[in-house]
Amino acid sequence: MIRAVRNVLKVSLCIVVATLAHVSFAGESGVVDTSSSPRAQVRTVGMNEARWTDGFWADRFDLCRTQMVPSMGRLMEGTNYSQFFRNFEIVAGLVPGKAHGASFNDGDFYKFLEGASATLAITNDAGLANRLDEIIAVIAKAQETNGYIDTWVQLHRRGGDTNIVPFASPDRFEVYNIGQLMTAACVHYRATQKTNFLAVACKAADFLCDAFKNPTPALANNLICPSHYMGIVELYRATHEPRYLDLAKKFFSMRNLIKDGGDDNQDRIPFAQQDEAEGHAVRANYLYAGAADLYLETGDANLWRPLTEIWTNTVTKKMYITGGCGALYDGASPDGSRDQGRITRVHQSYGRNFQLPNTTAYNETCANIGNVLWNWRMFLATGNAQFMDVVELALYNSVLSGGGLDGTNFFYVNPLRVTDPMPLNLRWSRQRQSFVSSFCCPPNLVRTIAESSDYAYGKSGDAIWINLYGSSSLATTLTNDAEIRLSQTTDYPWNGRVRIKIEKCDTPNFSLKLRIPGWANSVDVRINNEPADNSPKPGSYFEIRRAWRAGDFVELDLPMPARLMEANPLIEEDLNQLAVQRGPVVYCLESPDLPTGVHMSDVRIPNDLSLTSRYDQRLLDGVVVLEGKVLAKSQGDWIGKLYREMERSELRPISVKFIPYSVWQNRGKSEMSVWLPRVP
Ligand SMILES: [Zn+2]
Repeated sequence: MIRAVRNVLKVSLCIVVATLAHVSFAGESGVVDTSSSPRAQVRTVGMNEARWTDGFWADRFDLCRTQMVPSMGRLMEGTNYSQFFRNFEIVAGLVPGKAHGASFNDGDFYKFLEGASATLAITNDAGLANRLDEIIAVIAKAQETNGYIDTWVQLHRRGGDTNIVPFASPDRFEVYNIGQLMTAACVHYRATQKTNFLAVACKAADFLCDAFKNPTPALANNLICPSHYMGIVELYRATHEPRYLDLAKKFFSMRNLIKDGGDDNQDRIPFAQQDEAEGHAVRANYLYAGAADLYLETGDANLWRPLTEIWTNTVTKKMYITGGCGALYDGASPDGSRDQGRITRVHQSYGRNFQLPNTTAYNETCANIGNVLWNWRMFLATGNAQFMDVVELALYNSVLSGGGLDGTNFFYVNPLRVTDPMPLNLRWSRQRQSFVSSFCCPPNLVRTIAESSDYAYGKSGDAIWINLYGSSSLATTLTNDAEIRLSQTTDYPWNGRVRIKIEKCDTPNFSLKLRIPGWANSVDVRINNEPADNSPKPGSYFEIRRAWRAGDFVELDLPMPARLMEANPLIEEDLNQLAVQRGPVVYCLESPDLPTGVHMSDVRIPNDLSLTSRYDQRLLDGVVVLEGKVLAKSQGDWIGKLYREMERSELRPISVKFIPYSVWQNRGKSEMSVWLPRVP
């Protein structure tokens, strides 16, 4: 506490001191803190209250702690690939040098600091805590006295370009950068209870309050890749400072000043009139997450109505089976509209309804993470399990696919099919890379894995919500300050049996709310070996209210047969094809698991395919594989031909195994497909 007070006093701007005087020391606050949000149906648990203890997520967190955070720290503090931290050191006058790297590098560095801070919340690693303090001191030194901070702009201005002024071009991503700063600082504060980073964020936010006092269309045009809605609302939650909530409202209302916008930045029409997911999918999902954040604080129906309509459009017409978002590398939107004058170019974008190509799918890892951020906030606002279903689907499939099992190589895009040869050359690699020029996804994945236990639990009144299954512990308090401790033991997602034990309860009267995933049928719940009174309904929370005692336990059995999935026939790219899903995990076929000489385009799935599940400890760090017999049909020679008269060739049975989609391409260059043609 003394250290925190001293840190506050170091901050010269008196307004910041005033702001920080209101902060309530967290510890019990989550990455998103809905403890005072008027519209929240579910409150988040504290960052160190829920921990993975064993199994799938504990392994991912360990990889994050031991490999991802240290190696990414070296990359981002170094200069081998680009400049991230070095730009701050140069601005701070600590080392000589010039600007180098993308204009959004600051924001991506803050995302890494957020991930490192979230790791720290669990590990209390003193070395990491000290290094973060050193880095934050440099960032604070790079910040201008008026609060402005953006190293790309600061260094180019220093280079003599007098045209470089704040918020003059959306290509500089200044508000994206500061948005990530605000979120990272809130997470660091909640993880460590130190205010050094929070003070930098408050100072930057106060600069924004001033800079956007009298918004103009030109200023409004700067609000792209909008991490700042989430950032400023979270800063409001951390400080309870009303002017930050006012700024969040202003940021939203400013969007209506834009007259010549387009779908790429979701500003062709006012947000209140939108009902479809359009444009750049990262920007879209960040906007929707930010709108949900603001709704949680204000209850504004002009935010909620579009959010629910856009959500329904997304999950019924625009989202991949993996939870991935963003069908197109490049396109036009609204494509095919009668109002041709309003059609603009879009990139990395949602497509038309039911336009979900597999080979050319974009599905940027950041967009898939954005889908998690958005659905998490929709869940917190409603307590509806349908939103957690999407959180879980995206996490296990299109989010984790973004990183290799080595923790150091990453996908920027997440296609559902890769063939050799490919139909065309695409911008981004089909193999994970240690570095790409747009280094937004890797630190985003680090923070998501570091924060994954945050999503597992929630609470409301006298209820504990169990949202995600994974061996873990929870130690939290209910609104009456009663301490509840419980443990969860399971091999999920490889096995649907979950055991939850009450370790301690200061009050006997509380509810456990168990999420019953939408895919789960014939679910069985037993309490102290006795069947539950009611039958759980898929896609809802199953509430168990009783007088609990320490030692009581609940056993949940979510049967996980391998399921053959088909797509809405309006998705042309999936017509007459099948995919395989087991529990929340979407599977794929990858060429190392095909017999020699068989290509992905040869494979046919019989409608009566029978699959056997088997846990293979040695394969891909331990996965459940699904084994069975499919059919293969030789394609013959297609060179130089677009069409030919049908060739009749024998279908022969072959043995294959399907692997989880998220771990494909960990065995070298390969062919892969989620959807495969069915016969007959
Ligand atoms: Zn990205």
